[in-house]
Amino acid sequence: MTVVTRFPPSPTGFMHVGNARTAIFNWLYARATGGKFVVRIEDTDRKRHSEEAVAAIMDGLEWLGLDYDGEVISQFSRLDRHTEVAMEMIEKGQAYYCYCTPEELEEMREKAKAEGAKTFYDRRWRDADPSTVPEDVKPVVRIKAPLEGSITIEDKVQGSVTVANDQIDDFIILRSDGTPTYMLSVVVDDHDMGVTHVLRGDDHLNNTFRQKVIFDAMGWDVPVFGHLPLIHGPDGGKFSKRHGAQSVQEYREMGYLPEALFNYLLRLGWSHGDEEIIPRDKALQWFNLDHIGKAAARFDFAKLENLNAHYIKDMEADKLIELATPFFKDRHDITLDALAVERIKQGVDELKSRSKTLLQFADEAAFYAKSLPFAYDEKAQNQIDGSKDALAALLTKFEAQDVLTADSVQGICKDVAGELADGKLGKVAMPLRAALTGTTVSPSVFHAAEILGKDETCARIQAALS
Ligand code: GLU
Repeated sequence: MTVVTRFPPSPTGFMHVGNARTAIFNWLYARATGGKFVVRIEDTDRKRHSEEAVAAIMDGLEWLGLDYDGEVISQFSRLDRHTEVAMEMIEKGQAYYCYCTPEELEEMREKAKAEGAKTFYDRRWRDADPSTVPEDVKPVVRIKAPLEGSITIEDKVQGSVTVANDQIDDFIILRSDGTPTYMLSVVVDDHDMGVTHVLRGDDHLNNTFRQKVIFDAMGWDVPVFGHLPLIHGPDGGKFSKRHGAQSVQEYREMGYLPEALFNYLLRLGWSHGDEEIIPRDKALQWFNLDHIGKAAARFDFAKLENLNAHYIKDMEADKLIELATPFFKDRHDITLDALAVERIKQGVDELKSRSKTLLQFADEAAFYAKSLPFAYDEKAQNQIDGSKDALAALLTKFEAQDVLTADSVQGICKDVAGELADGKLGKVAMPLRAALTGTTVSPSVFHAAEILGKDETCARIQAALS
């Protein structure tokens, strides 16, 4: 049997990290087993539908590197097929028209409430005489749910879960306006798309029993289910905006790497021994359904950040610079030229160790890409204003060198500190940093001067002095 997993998001405007995690699990299971991963957009809510929301999801999938098989299916485009199945169920005696008015339903609801019953619809049309059909009521279609016994799902995550059939009513599969309900559409689509495994949030577990009723009524194979515990906030409460970023897009904009978010979301709910660093190739080797956690996972921002720092360190300089390029543009209005890229590559190890995100990387590296004249932030300007004599002394000594190395720059700074600042190196290194970078935070200024080279270093000091 070829495994087919699916990702069926409802386009709500962005890709929630919970959705992304579900997608990752399904993708991994398909890829790890040589199966297929299919995507279906659950776009039947036309009032709230937007193509941008669909694009945001597709963009999220692509960014996370989750490729899919075949065409993306629109659930809305399949409404006729869903209706057709409802009609087939009527023909087979598995479903029936129900002509109850809203008033009758309300009455049933009140009665059930008074009796403390679990369900309220009294199935009055299930075996009704067709001659009693009213002419002015548009019927809904209800399924004939089993009256006795129970339904058991052997869930891959939750274990064996059973619900007694007296808890499941003859739920609606086709509304009175002829549109299929979500319950029906999902089952028909999952069947037609050949889905064998459904991994989704445990908020859907209750739906699963009803969906199984439909699968059984049609005589279709029931997929294997695995209901993943939801992601909670760091405090254990429902993961929400007040805890922090919710969407894949936001993490991307904050400078997270897809590798890091992939690893983080995978580990959030699945484990392989004590391994924390699980790159994609390892995930493909190790992933299975046996080690999905049963307890709700808490989102841990520090852990995600540490993973991001790891993947930044691990990345090839060229790739890293390419990924950071938009951040240089957005935050510093800098377009990297070949010279800037060359300098950043020379300083990349130190930049990496100082960056937990691409955004930090771009901030730390921006000075390499600046060209004169550039602005100084307030603190840098103060450093420069208070130390012009030290800068002038550095300039003279640097100009007398053939080339600058981190060692020679440090040596000269020490000499100047001895001459002008009671030997306090910081009194010389800080204004030098301000002159070279326009800020007061940067990687080693000695190394920076070596990378910038003698001419650029001297020119930047000159500019600061004038
Ligand atoms: N469209 C549903 C959601 O986004 C998915 C339902 C399912 O996985 O069956 O929550």
